Amino acid sequence: MFQNFKDIQQALTAGTTSVYKVVQHYLANIEKDNSRLNALLEVYADEALAQAEIIDKKRETNTAGKLAGMVIAIKDNICYKGHKVGAASKILDGFESQFTATALQRLLDEDAIVIGRANCDEFAMGSSNENSAFGIVKNYIDTDRVPGGSSGGSAVAVQANFCTASLGSDTGGSIRQPASFCNLVGFKPTYGRISRSGLIAYASSFDQIGPFTHTVEDSALLYEIMAGKDEADSTSSSVAVDKTSFDQKSGIKKVAILQPAVEAEGLDPQVKSYFENAKSTLEAAGYEVALVPFNWLDYLVPVYYIITTAEASSNLARYDGMHFGYRDPEAQGIDEIYTSTRTKNFGEEVKRRILLGTFVLSAGYYESYFGKAQKIRRKVVEDTEKILKEYPIIMLPTTPSGAFKIGENTEDPIKMYLQDIFTVQSNITGKPSISLPLMTDSQGLPVGFQLMADSNKENDLFLFSKEISALLAPEKVL
Ligand code: GLN
Repeated sequence: MFQNFKDIQQALTAGTTSVYKVVQHYLANIEKDNSRLNALLEVYADEALAQAEIIDKKRETNTAGKLAGMVIAIKDNICYKGHKVGAASKILDGFESQFTATALQRLLDEDAIVIGRANCDEFAMGSSNENSAFGIVKNYIDTDRVPGGSSGGSAVAVQANFCTASLGSDTGGSIRQPASFCNLVGFKPTYGRISRSGLIAYASSFDQIGPFTHTVEDSALLYEIMAGKDEADSTSSSVAVDKTSFDQKSGIKKVAILQPAVEAEGLDPQVKSYFENAKSTLEAAGYEVALVPFNWLDYLVPVYYIITTAEASSNLARYDGMHFGYRDPEAQGIDEIYTSTRTKNFGEEVKRRILLGTFVLSAGYYESYFGKAQKIRRKVVEDTEKILKEYPIIMLPTTPSGAFKIGENTEDPIKMYLQDIFTVQSNITGKPSISLPLMTDSQGLPVGFQLMADSNKENDLFLFSKEISALLAPEKVL
């Protein structure tokens, strides 16, 4: 029924629905499909309905916020006071948030309603949502396939119409990659634009919260409300946040296609030819489209996995059985409590990354791994910025192909890590990026078309997304 927030607002204004009925509609969809998809770990049915009644009352007196009627799900690594949060890990068993994440609080202040807590990969580590302690999430298009990760539950919640939009976090692609696999708009802002206060940290110099939506306009709206300086996050940026007005044009005439990405081995042939066609379509519409070289593509995944695992090994040191969540009741003495709590309650992938992270930071190896990766990170930033100076938008696929089968990549972590080849550049550099549901692969599965812009140019990204989707997919409302 409702595909985006505009539909809901129109129905509310026309008086054909109420916020209460919108929530009921989503709850009915959840009831029908959540148990087989496993997207939501918890559904706040009574609370959402009670909140809807309050907002309907406010609407009668014209005091409702901008997001009245917007129903969202939140990834299980975003704190919501008085509600459980667990990063889909056994180690946080029973833990309740003591406060609400700033990004979420800003949405609540505008009367968004949270309908549930979404499954994800444990501590946001994964590309398929097969690493959750609470089971695999299934792709709504084909339940034999993964939804992508790590924010797979958030993606499927929107894909299956359990809510209007959802929040995920993106450290190396965890919003854009599931958006690609689930045919949605997925957006990662510039590093520092949205406060990380209340987001369970994975790799602090990469992590950003962002939305999953059906449309670019909904993405821009949620972004604008969440973004902006927050005293509780010292890395949050104080650069003013533009409000995008979609009746304007971006004014962008020069765009770049990242050549090694569209020539990459393993790229689905149909995705490749989509880019060739997109180039001609854009050129015919008067854009200058350049195929630009970039020397670092093969370094991106190793750099990402060295730096993020190093940061993760430090961030996850706090889950020691003493401070939060689960403690092994049989363990004796402090050393045994630490060791046995962590051994029993972290999943395989989390352990692998903690080990890798402590290794790359260890004396004797630090310079060869962590130090070197930091240097390459700088180079990647420099070269990306060089391109963006001349071409304000870089275009590349979000993923090499569509959603893979459950179990297909679990035996080989390196193969799984290579799923992130096109998404990590934007996190390594801190640049904003968006995945648009424009393409399909040779099997007919959705694949995202990704755009990246320079820091704080979210406005360009949203406007250009609308322009390009009008040209490439005029039949869709993006
Ligand atoms: N797939 C990437 C990883 O496994 C990205 C995760 C993320 O963005 N949180 O680390």
